[in-house]
Amino acid sequence: MNALLNDIIKSCAHYTEEGAVANYIPELAKADPSKFGIYVLTHFGQQFSAGDCNAEFTMQSVIKPLILLMALFDSGIQAVHDLVGVEATGKPFDAFNYSDQALTSANINPMINTGSIALCTLIKGDTYRDKFDRLLEFTRKIAANPNMDIDEAVYASEKATGNKNRALGYMLKAYGMINDNIEDVVDCYFRACSVKATCADLARIASVFSNKGKDILTGEQLFDPKYCKYVNAILMTCGMYDGSGEFALRVGFPAKSGVGGGIMGVVPGKMGIGVFSPALDCKGNSLAGVNALEILSRELDLSVFL
Ligand code: GLU
Repeated sequence: MNALLNDIIKSCAHYTEEGAVANYIPELAKADPSKFGIYVLTHFGQQFSAGDCNAEFTMQSVIKPLILLMALFDSGIQAVHDLVGVEATGKPFDAFNYSDQALTSANINPMINTGSIALCTLIKGDTYRDKFDRLLEFTRKIAANPNMDIDEAVYASEKATGNKNRALGYMLKAYGMINDNIEDVVDCYFRACSVKATCADLARIASVFSNKGKDILTGEQLFDPKYCKYVNAILMTCGMYDGSGEFALRVGFPAKSGVGGGIMGVVPGKMGIGVFSPALDCKGNSLAGVNALEILSRELDLSVFL
């Protein structure tokens, strides 16, 4: 398996030169596009890796499944489903998208910014700082890495330039979907996007989602399997931005990408995968990362569609 992963890193390396690092958050533009790593944790507890698997990057949208999970955990399926729907929008992650549609719960999902910002309101905590702290604790627990923390420079950069996300927050408020102070709500979201991780962290988190909420290595049940099923279903249909359908065809398992270049791949009943390469395709997915997952899926027969 290590040999296969090394081969994949070698054969996909040219994609790191063909994509482009995200630059709409100034701090992300500093990422080294040549970085490329992959990590796999199987249900037998075996761990394999290749390339820059210890490189740190910010999770960005890869935190969205954790925000969804925390909202489910704290507020239950009904409240989550009532506030944020489950249908793919077919539009970019930060689209306003409401010129031809009313902004209603039915028209958003937990993997676009509008939905994820809304779900921050369903995380328990007296203040938005408390809500974020609970989310970070939960993420550390699932990743089995107590050292996970935010990248202060990326957080400051997101906060300074994230006016589109503020605007989405105000739209939610204007349409009566949330009531809280928008600066506080989006601060929680900006912090969440700025949490640093490695491929190993993403693989560990993904492995829990692939194992009905149970940690493969410790056997601890970390959350209810029904929440796991909910999150995985949304990842399958909406996890790879408006490239989710193509990803389902080419790779065929639930996954979530972020503009920091990370992708977590959830192979139900088999393994969790973390891949990182910051050069992105036009949809915002790691170009080398998606191609690496496509080869891995083909070689190991991982598509859930058989
Ligand atoms: N912080 C980023 C934003 O909301 C996350 C985007 C992403 O990774 O999709 O703009």
